[in-house]
Amino acid sequence: MSLSRRTLEMEESPTMAVTAKAKALKAAGEPVIGFGAGEPDFPTPAHIVEAARTAALDPASHRYTPAAGTPALREAIATITSGYTAHDYAPEQVVVANGGKHALYDIFLALIDPGDEVLIPAPYWVSYPEQVKLADGVPVAVPTDKSTGFRTSPEQLERLRTERTKALVFVSPSNPTGAVYPPEEIAAIGRWAADHGIWVITDEIYQHLVYGEARFASLVELVPEAAERTVIAHGVAKTYAMTGWRVGWAVAPLAVAKAMNKLQSQMTSNVCNIAQAAALAAITGPQDEVERMRTAFDRRRRLAVEQLRAIDGVELEEPEGAFYVFPSFEGVLGRTIAGRQVTSTLELADVLLTEAKVAVVPGEAFGAPGYARLSYALGDDDLVEGVGRIAELLR
Ligand code: GLU
Repeated sequence: MSLSRRTLEMEESPTMAVTAKAKALKAAGEPVIGFGAGEPDFPTPAHIVEAARTAALDPASHRYTPAAGTPALREAIATITSGYTAHDYAPEQVVVANGGKHALYDIFLALIDPGDEVLIPAPYWVSYPEQVKLADGVPVAVPTDKSTGFRTSPEQLERLRTERTKALVFVSPSNPTGAVYPPEEIAAIGRWAADHGIWVITDEIYQHLVYGEARFASLVELVPEAAERTVIAHGVAKTYAMTGWRVGWAVAPLAVAKAMNKLQSQMTSNVCNIAQAAALAAITGPQDEVERMRTAFDRRRRLAVEQLRAIDGVELEEPEGAFYVFPSFEGVLGRTIAGRQVTSTLELADVLLTEAKVAVVPGEAFGAPGYARLSYALGDDDLVEGVGRIAELLR
C-alpha cells in the first residue's frame, strides 16, 4: 500500500485523539476524567433541539440545501456578523461549513498557494498548522509566552514577515491559552495587516466566552480597512453546546466566499439540513442559556486555577476566555512519578492517564512543550476530582 505524501506527513488531531482514547477507556469501565477536547458538558438547549425535531419531520429538510447553506441561515449569520463588526455583510458572503474546523480548512484552501506562509501565534490550536500544510502552505509559528500574556504584537509579526507571508491566524479568546487581546492590541495588529496587505483569518468561535473584565472585540470593527482581507471563522459548537451538530461558518469578502462555495460544492455539498435548522434557532432564538453556561464556565475556571496553583511545580496565568487552562508543568519535569522518570509533558500526559485516569492534552500538541491544556467544560464534581487526582499523583 502506498499512502499519499499528504496523509503520511500530517498528524492526527491530538485533541480528538486524546478525547477518543478517554471516551473509549470510560466506555470500557475505567473511571477516566477527560480534560481533553473543548466540549461543553451541557445538553444543547431544548428550543434548539425542538427546532431540529420540527425540521426533521418536514420533508423539505430531507433534501439538499445550497452548498453554502440555507438562505435563512446565511441571512441570519450575515445580520448578526454585521451587527457586531459594524460592517455590512451580505448573505452571499457567508459559507456554512461542517463545523468551524471545516470552515477554516475551506478558508486556507481558498487563500493559500504552494509556499505561501501563514503566521500562527503559538501556543496554537492543533489544526491550524496541519490545515495550512494540507493547503500546501507553510505554517510559521509566532512564539509567545507568559511574559506577554501569550499575546503577539505587530513588532513581533513584522520580524517574521517575508515576501511569502500571505496570512495571519488571529484568535481571541485563544485556544489553548484563554488569552483575550485588549482592543488597542487588536487594532494595532489589524492595522499592521492592512498596511502590508496580509490576510487575517480571525477565529471567533469563543466570542461569547469571556470572563471578568475581559471583553471580546472585533478586528473588523476596530480596523474597517482590514475587512477586505479578513475572513471570520465562527460556529455554534462552543456557545450553544452543539459540538456534535457540526455547524460552523466563514464570513468573507465575496470572492473568497465564492471560492469556498465552489470547494464545498465539489467536496461536501451542504451541511446537514436539520443541523442548519438547529443552528438558525440557536443564533436567532433566546440567548439566556448562553449566559447560564458562561457563568458555569466562569465558576469552573476559577476553581481550576485555584486548585492547579496549589500544586507544587505547577504555574499558570488566569485565562480570560474560552474554556481552557494552560498550566506550565515545567517545575514537575525531571521528577520520578509512579516509578517513571518524566522528562516531557508528552510523558506526563501519558502517566496522568495511566496512573491517575485523567486525560489532558500535552503542550507539545500546541507548539508549547512544558505545558498541558485542560478543558474545564466538564462538570464541577469531575473537575474537582480530576485536578485532585493530578495533585495527588504529583505530591
Ligand atoms: N476545538 C476543540 C479543542 O480544541 C475540539 C477538538 C478539536 O476540534 O480540536 O479541543
